[in-house]
Formats: sequence, structure tokens, C-alpha cells
Amino acid sequence: MTGTNPLNGPAAPGGKATSAPLLGRDTEPTLFELSHPGRRAWSFRTTGIPELNIEELLPAEHVRSEPVPLAEVSERDLVAHFTRLSHRQFSVDLGAYPLGSCTMKYNPKVCDAVAALPGLAGVHPAAPASLTQGWLALMVEVEETLCEITGMAAATLQPAAGASGELTGLLLMRAWHQAQGAPRHKVIIPDSSHGTNPASVTLGGYEVVTVPSDARGCVDMEALASVLDEDVAGIMLTNPNTLGLFEEDIAEIAAAVHKVGGLLYYDGANLNAILGVVRPGDMGFDIVHMNLHKTFATPHGGGGPGAGPVAVSERLVPYLPGPRPERVEDGAEGKPTYRWFTPERSIGRMHSWHGNTLVLARALAYILVNGGDGLQKVAEIAVLNANWIRQRLSGTFDVPFDRQCMHEVVLSSRNLKQAHGVRALDIAKRLLEEGFHSPTVYFPLIVEEALMIEPTETESPQTLEALAQALEQIAYEANALPTGSMTEAPRNTPVRRVDEARAARTLIPTFDARGEKQA
Ligand SMILES: *Cc1c(COP(=O)(O)O)cnc(C)c1O
Repeated sequence: MTGTNPLNGPAAPGGKATSAPLLGRDTEPTLFELSHPGRRAWSFRTTGIPELNIEELLPAEHVRSEPVPLAEVSERDLVAHFTRLSHRQFSVDLGAYPLGSCTMKYNPKVCDAVAALPGLAGVHPAAPASLTQGWLALMVEVEETLCEITGMAAATLQPAAGASGELTGLLLMRAWHQAQGAPRHKVIIPDSSHGTNPASVTLGGYEVVTVPSDARGCVDMEALASVLDEDVAGIMLTNPNTLGLFEEDIAEIAAAVHKVGGLLYYDGANLNAILGVVRPGDMGFDIVHMNLHKTFATPHGGGGPGAGPVAVSERLVPYLPGPRPERVEDGAEGKPTYRWFTPERSIGRMHSWHGNTLVLARALAYILVNGGDGLQKVAEIAVLNANWIRQRLSGTFDVPFDRQCMHEVVLSSRNLKQAHGVRALDIAKRLLEEGFHSPTVYFPLIVEEALMIEPTETESPQTLEALAQALEQIAYEANALPTGSMTEAPRNTPVRRVDEARAARTLIPTFDARGEKQA
């Protein structure tokens, strides 16, 4: 095999010298700043296959007259660029990432191996069912497995993430009520809910009705009763809720909402707590979205692709997005075949193709590797780890709802704020210096100076001990050191304390490759 050596492209006239060591620089140049005309990555020499004649394939008016101004970098510079960037990040592969509500568990590499299989990764989404039987079989198996886990009748795999699943669920809710002849206008949400819930309700064309939490951190049943009427399309619940607590009155809530003809929507982004233990379907829910990128091992947090399948009860199946993959049992020699079909009263597509399918492949690999017992163990250890942290830190931080939690625990640092002016944000930044990612802060909104810790099942007792010690050390410093010393953190990270609002206020939405109007 002969390669083209990409390293010696001609230097750009007057181009910046970019060969000086870059590690340790404050800012990493963009690929365009590293660009030199003619530099290329390693690739095969031409194979002898005649080149396609573009003019024959495309109408002349659609053919570019000039090439796209892309960065021209050698493979060596490209790899170094991304490796340097990766050294400036915290990641699930680097250490504990106790970011509550996000389930930043370690993602087993076997899932990557499966998602990289050429037979899965190399298929074009427009390939016909006759050529993609394996993919359809995989998708049907994912759907059936998720339905078994949640106790639902069928699922759509199209939604690209949790929020997209929520919108899908609300559109299903709307379609169902419309078919009953009464569109309805309101959707109930507890005040502890994830921010995407009210946003999705509004996007779905409904009015948000908020119910407060009671002293236990659960839905206030009296408040719920006072807002239930025949104009309520449904309720959106997270269970365990975002305080990490199981809604004890779930059966009563389900009965009350169903009584006025409303539907129950389960925000299952955090399914980690209940896998193999209880099922939303058995609790009376009609619609459940899952975040495969949280519970079922897909790296996320950096904007990578997610998947938010939505599973529904029997009565909503005819409205599911299409096309859906389906098994047909009358294949030759008893072998099933697979095809696409669109349900009769489908709400339409929620994705231009079939969803983020490689995330589905990853999730199936994760489920099969764990097996039913394994998934139950995931939930049990996730809950055990969160309760260990709660017990251990309850003398150090306030625990606003101090009872058994599920997969995450919400602490409050309001005592440190009152006594020393140290905020939850300062604690989060200081924790970065100790080699841990920060917990979620200031969420849920109903807890003052909230620190929401989700250790996940993948961390060892030794790691939990180290995390607890780090937080104890920080609380000690907050009490013992002069006020203000904490606001300097983090001191040992590639980027110090960032201005939280600046990126949003001084947006630079595009980088001009020709350098004409660089900000
Ligand atoms: C993460 C999360 C969501 C939103 O999921 P995305 O994939 O980020 O859109 C919704 N609800 C809860 C409870 C979550 O934790």
C-alpha cells in the first residue's frame, strides 16, 4: 500500500508559523488557523476507478465553481489538534462525573465496538428494507426490549433526544384528545420538573399549569386536586422526581388524572433508578420517553447524538410516528422478515430518517451485555451509591429532603452561603481542582444553593470515598479560610473561571475562513 505523504504541503505565503509546541498555550488555534494550502491527510492513491463526471450527475447550476474553503491540515496536525483539545476537557473516561439528572456513567467500550461495525455504521438510511433486514431486526429488538423494561405496548425510536421525545409525547397526547373530539388546553407539571418539560409543553401548544411540591418533596396532592379538570390534557411527571425522590402517591396521582380523562406522561430521562425494579406502565403511565444517552451508555454532554425513544400504552399505538420497523412472521421457512409501515393515524415523522440509529445499536449492546439481572443491579447500585453519599455528607451539607433517595441526592450549601458567602457555584468550581467534575448546581430550582449529586453505578467505593473527602475538604475550607478565597477556583484547569453569560451575550456564530471579518 502506498500512501501520499501529507506532511510537506507548500507553506502558505506569509502564513503563521504553527509548528511551535502548542501544548500549554492558553488557546488552541482553530483548524482554519492551522491551515496551509495543499496539506492533506493520509489516503490511498487513486485506484484506477474512473472519476465520476459531476456534470452528468448534477444540473450545471448546482455545481460549485469554486471549492469550499475548508481548512487544509495534515493528518498529524489534525490528530494533535483534537488530542490537545481532549486534554483540556473533563470526560467520563477521565474520572467521576457526578452531574445530577444527567447520568454521566462510564460507557463501556464494547458499545463503541458495536456501533463501529461496518455493517451497521456503513448503511445509508435510504437503503431499502430488502437490503437492511439486519438493521430492521435490530430496531424491532430495541423497541421490544424498551417496551419490556418500561411495561408499554410499542415505541417510536425516532426522537433524537429527551426533549425531542417530550415533544413527540405531547403531540401524541394532542392527537389522542383530538380523536376523542376534545382538544383540551392544559398540561400539569410539578415545580421540581426539568426545564425541558415546560418548554416542550409550550412548544406542543399547551398551557403549563404548575403544581407545588409538599414538605416530602413530592407532588402536593391537594394542589393537584385543585387544578384537575376536563381541560387537562395530561400530567408530565419525573419519577423518581428531580429531587431524587420516588413519588409515593403515584397510584393515586394516576387514578386522579385518568378520572378527568387526562393522560400520564413519564419523563424517563433518569430510568437508571428503576431499571428492572418497577415499570412506568405498571404505575399507570400512558407515554414514556427514555434517554438512551443517559441510561443506556452513549457518551453525551458534549453535544453528541442522543436518542429519546417514546413508548406508549395500547391506546396510543395508532398515533406513533412513522415509518416504524415491523416484523412479519410469514417469512419462508418460518424465518421472519422485516418491513417499514406507517400507523394509520400517525402524527408523522419526528426525524428526517429513522432516528440516531447507532445510539440504538449501542443501547441494545449495553442491554444484552448486562442482561435482565444486570440492569436491575445497575439500578440497585446507582441508588446505593447516591444514598451512601447522602449519609456521608449529611453532617457537612444541608440535606433539604433527608429521606431515602433514589439514584441522586440533592444537597444544599445555603448554610455556607449564609455564614461565609460561599456559593454552590464556588464549591462546584473548587471541586474541579480535586479532579472531579462538578455536580449539577442551582437545580432543581426549588432548592436554594442546590448541589445535585448523581454518582451513578459505575463508580467504585474508593472513588465515592475520594469524592466525599474532596467535598468535606471544600466545606472545611469554606468555614476556615478567609471569605473570597473560594472565588479564585479553579486554579489548576486549562481554563479558569469562565464568564457564564459572555458566550451567550457576545455570540460569534460563524468563523470566517477567509479571515475577512474575524471578531
Ligand atoms: C436530561 C433530561 C431531559 C432532557 O433530555 P435531553 O436529551 O437533554 O433533551 C429531560 N428530563 C430530565 C429529567 C432530564 O434529566
